[in-house]
Amino acid sequence: MIPPEDIEKLIRPELKAMNAYTPIEPTDILSQRIKLPQEKVIKLDGNENPHGCSAKVKQALAKHAHYHLYPDPEQRELRKALVEYTGISPEYILAGSGSDELIDLVLRLFIEPGDKVIDCPPTFGMYPFSTGVCGGRLVSIPRKPDFSIDVTAVKEALDKQTKVIFIASPNNPSGNITPKDTILELLDSYMVVVIDEAYFEFSGVTVMPLVSKYSNLIVLRTFSKWAGLAGLRVGYGIFPINIAKYLMKIKQPYNVNTAAQVAALESLRDMSYLRDTIKAIIDERQRLLSKLGQLDWLKVYPSQANFILCSVLNGKAKAIHEELQNRGIFVRYFDTPQLKDCLRISVGKPEHTDALIVALKEIC
Ligand SMILES: *Cc1c(COP(=O)(O)O)cnc(C)c1O
Repeated sequence: MIPPEDIEKLIRPELKAMNAYTPIEPTDILSQRIKLPQEKVIKLDGNENPHGCSAKVKQALAKHAHYHLYPDPEQRELRKALVEYTGISPEYILAGSGSDELIDLVLRLFIEPGDKVIDCPPTFGMYPFSTGVCGGRLVSIPRKPDFSIDVTAVKEALDKQTKVIFIASPNNPSGNITPKDTILELLDSYMVVVIDEAYFEFSGVTVMPLVSKYSNLIVLRTFSKWAGLAGLRVGYGIFPINIAKYLMKIKQPYNVNTAAQVAALESLRDMSYLRDTIKAIIDERQRLLSKLGQLDWLKVYPSQANFILCSVLNGKAKAIHEELQNRGIFVRYFDTPQLKDCLRISVGKPEHTDALIVALKEIC
């Protein structure tokens, strides 16, 4: 028998050295940890939709008769429905098991060992994660203090091995969008520009119509946030046709499972419900922003997404994060050089905002 430590020698060394991704925990685990019933947990740490998916999605899932068959590898029905939603023709569209899968697929398509991928932190942690798994080298070009992209620094960093740049717009965790002018400037460079619009429905700002004009622009979207389907894993991308063709070729044939496809299709058929929840979240974002703004020990950043980033000015960010947890309220805490003493709070229902504000006033 081969000793376990020798087997480990066969593992790719760059993966052994890589940092793990820090995911959020599910409600049942959180509720056990703080010994509070699940219904009492206020989960504002994952940018999930507190209103849940459409009731019609649940009915369609219960009624569907073909779970014993493999899903359509070409996702024809879903892509057709997305044509209506996006106004883009089907050859440009490909769905994934969450947009996370599409981030990974894009990197698999372009990155050879040692190739460079640019991200602009603070930003979404899946970009470094998937770059690492795909054997790429991450080049991080920090955002400016107002969280805008430092285009000059990005351009200076470019070389022959730089292949892809990821920009989340609105950005997670800062909530700001990247203006079209900036994106156009980046599109002028010799690299693939991925604009991750996971929060598009809360901002209404998109560069999707540019995909048919630029051979190097990719736009990613997801059903996780606005449609309340995070648990079912379904996202999609709008790709230049020749990129879409290769992604179709290299993806797992049945990458989007039947339940996810049924749920996404039914969501697109119940837009009136979803538009109402999006509006409720945008209204609540404004209320949460103004309530947080009244706390003089918080610096609150404006947001075009379904979460709000705040910087804690009294030096007690870590304690506040823990004290909130003890009261059953979960938010995301950051303590990186760029996000020192920061909390990211997902927009919940009005009663969640009220409970959070009461708790914050008690703690500080
Ligand atoms: C949440 C999030 C995603 C992930 O979406 P999934 O479709 O659930 O994989 C992608 N990008 C950003 C910026 C996100 O915040």
